[in-house]
Amino acid sequence: MQVKSSIDLGEIHADVVMKSIKHVHLSVYPPDGRVHISAPLHMTPDTLRVYAITKLDWIRQQRKKLCAQARETPREYLSRESHQVWGQRYLLDIRYADEKPTVKLTHRQLVLTARPGSDAQKCAEILHDWYKTELHRVVPELIREWETRLGVKVRAYFLQRMKTKWGSANPAAGHIRLNTELAKKPKVLLEYVIVHEMAHLRVPSHNEAFVALMDASYPAWREARTALNALPLAAEAWSQKC
Ligand SMILES: [Zn+2]
Repeated sequence: MQVKSSIDLGEIHADVVMKSIKHVHLSVYPPDGRVHISAPLHMTPDTLRVYAITKLDWIRQQRKKLCAQARETPREYLSRESHQVWGQRYLLDIRYADEKPTVKLTHRQLVLTARPGSDAQKCAEILHDWYKTELHRVVPELIREWETRLGVKVRAYFLQRMKTKWGSANPAAGHIRLNTELAKKPKVLLEYVIVHEMAHLRVPSHNEAFVALMDASYPAWREARTALNALPLAAEAWSQKC
């Protein structure tokens, strides 16, 4: 059974779902700092309200962090604009030729060749496909390596745009999903996300067993997580005023 409601605390609005769980849990979600509370069915509206009020400072802090993350502005796909590849900054150089579009990296530049008349959206698509190709070049080997180390089998992996997270796992199917934005971040962070999602194939939730597994197999996971959270998730249009 689930009962949905909401609480308003001045500037902050929280969606509430009451269900058969033991503990109340509050989350603040990117990109705009949406507040969600999961609460046990027996919790009274007053208790819930008091709980939410005690969390106000923390909610504001989380929203500030999300704003800081959101500083990456949307790209316009113009020459000399900077773009990240594996944690390095490159200057975009757009060229036009009547041939199959390509993307090539030089020492400082990301050379994108598009067909004449291609607009920013077309260039964005070409670059996005290229980021996926880059990921496909390195992900299979990392998965193979960690299959042995974690003793799990990944039946398939998928790359996709994700607005709010870096990856996800479907333990029942043996699938993991990775955010295509990871091709813009340092490779060690991609590896951390892969290990994290693969660890979920053994332990689906973020419980003690999961933390123990991460501690044993990838001791630097906390630092990696902090580094990743400090980076912009995506160059989306962010709805929250900072
Ligand atoms: Zn997780």
